[in-house]
Order: sequence, then C-alpha cells, then structure tokens
Amino acid sequence: MDALIKYGREDKNVELRDIPQPPDPAPGQVVVEVGAAGVCGSDLHMWRDHQSWAIKLPLVLGHEFCGTVAAVGAGVETFKLGDRVAVETAAEVCGNCAYCHSGDYNQCPHRLGYGALYDGAFTQYVTARQQILHHIPENVTFEQASLTEPICVAYNALVEKTPVLRPGDIVVIQGPGPIGMMALFIAKLRGASEIVMLGTRHDKRRLTVAAEIGATQTLNIDEADPLELARSLGDGYGADLIVDCSGVSIALKSALEMVRPNGTITKIGWGPQPLDFNLDPLVQKAVTLQGCFSHLYDTWERALQLLSTGQIDLAPIIGGVYALGDWEAAFEQMESGENVKSVLVPA
Ligand SMILES: [Zn+2]
Ligand SMILES: [Zn+2]
Repeated sequence: MDALIKYGREDKNVELRDIPQPPDPAPGQVVVEVGAAGVCGSDLHMWRDHQSWAIKLPLVLGHEFCGTVAAVGAGVETFKLGDRVAVETAAEVCGNCAYCHSGDYNQCPHRLGYGALYDGAFTQYVTARQQILHHIPENVTFEQASLTEPICVAYNALVEKTPVLRPGDIVVIQGPGPIGMMALFIAKLRGASEIVMLGTRHDKRRLTVAAEIGATQTLNIDEADPLELARSLGDGYGADLIVDCSGVSIALKSALEMVRPNGTITKIGWGPQPLDFNLDPLVQKAVTLQGCFSHLYDTWERALQLLSTGQIDLAPIIGGVYALGDWEAAFEQMESGENVKSVLVPA
C-alpha cells in the first residue's frame, strides 16, 4: 500500500513509498481503513525537517485520522467490522506508569504517537488499540471527523486546563493556523467577550476565515501593533487569556506584554528557537504560563458531539481534500496559507 514517508533529516525528505499492509490485529486491536487524514502544522514541520520533538525514521506521517474498522482482533467488544471510528493519537502507552494509572496517559513517558514515534495514517491501513477508538456520529463525515484531533488539542488547552476560560474573558489568539482556529471555536463556545486573532502578512486569507468563524477582531502584526489593540479592549489592562498557537518562540514575548496582571498565557504551539528575553513581566504581573499537550478520551467524545450538533462547523477551515498522491499540493497549499487545513483521502 502507498504510504507517505519521511525518510531523512533534510528539507523535503518525504515521499510516497510502497509498504506492506498491517498484519492481522493482535488481541484488543483493530485495523482501520483510513477514510480521511488531516494535514497538521507539525506534518509541515517534519516535511521541512523543522520539528522540535522526537521522531523515528523512516516514518509514515499523519496523526489526525478516522476511517472504517477493517479487521477486528480477539477481545474487541464495542467495535465491529464496518464501524466508522475516529482514532486518538496515542498509538501506544505503557499502561503501567504513574500517568497511565491516574488516567493522564497523554503524559505517559513511553507514549508513542502516530506520525512521530509510531507509523501514522497517510496510508491506507493503520493498526489501533481499542482504547483509543471513538464511534463517529452518523451525520459527521470522514473529512470532518479527521479534524477531531486538533479540536481536542484546543479543547484540552482552553477547557480542561486550569485556569479555564471564563465567559466574558478577553482572549487573544496568536496564529491563525488550524489549531488557532480550533482555539477560536472553543473560545467562542466558552463565551469569551472578545476574541482577537493575530497573524502575519502571510496570513491574510486565514485572518479573513478567522473573522468569518467568530473572531471579533483580526490583526496583521506586520502592519499594526497588537499591544495597542489588546489595551483598547475592555477595561484596558490587557487580555485575560493569550493562546499561543504561532509555532514561533518569540510570540511569548508579545504575549507577556498583552496579558493583563493575573492573566494566563496558554502555550499550544511548539517552537524550536531559543529565547533571549527576560521573563520579569511574568513575575511582576503574576501571570500563569501553562503548556498543554494532547488530550484524553472524554475530550474526544465531546469534540465529536460538537461536530455532530454543528456547534463547530469546519466548512470554512477545510481548504481542500486531496488524494494521497497529491500530498505535495496539500502540504504546499497549507504552507502558503491558501488552506487553513488540507485533508488527505488515501483510498
Ligand atoms: Zn496535529
Ligand atoms: Zn504509561
């Protein structure tokens, strides 16, 4: 079967290769025929070899996916052949560490994520353990369900982490990429009074989409000062919550300026660049700076509900659906900002 593989540590060391189909599923596992797989900003980083996380090589890329159960191992009770399923990213966890025991398996030190340390979903068939499967509601398409994962990332960051976003909060989101847009959906659902989306000159199209899906203000930071905008909102002390989805380390500096005293900065985006500024404003303003990573089972069930009820409408986000053979166009059109999100359909 065709698979999109990162094979080396140079820019664009990614190509389609033929790999064997997965074997019959072991007990407790299923084989999923991939119905759709979203292209993530992190896939673009790995394509360009800019990733700042551990990966294996060679690696089948792709971790945002869903599909149809095509083979069922012994002991799998709640999923049968033909079921439509969305699949979490934690392909393997140890099941036996402090985090697995307390249910926080996203922090298992032995976690192997699809498309990073475990072969991913830009192919036709993927093996998955039953614990990470979720039934897809009937009225949710594969293209929509493939984006459950980035919704969960934002949901985890804005709702499951404390301090949580409160109705009436002023929120600034840095970076109108897919995760930034999902953060926007969640901020809107949580009742934020103002949601500012910040982008650069490369994000003109994405900022338009952000306004369409609920940003109360958008700003190109190459043209205007975001601090001035943040201080023009509400009582003028700055934003209650800054959500960093920029993928650039230096964004933290501007987040520290825009956040109000006692406010919160939630960092979702990764950034390989070292920082060279001081963190005194964090201390002086008593700001909570928190990281967040991945998501857990419950969040997936809720995200699928939000898709099923139409409370999250992904139509403006999905810029294009591409056959696996056209992956390069899918990647390029996301990198250029033409698409907020590209989706690959392997079959
Ligand atoms: Zn992702
Ligand atoms: Zn563990």
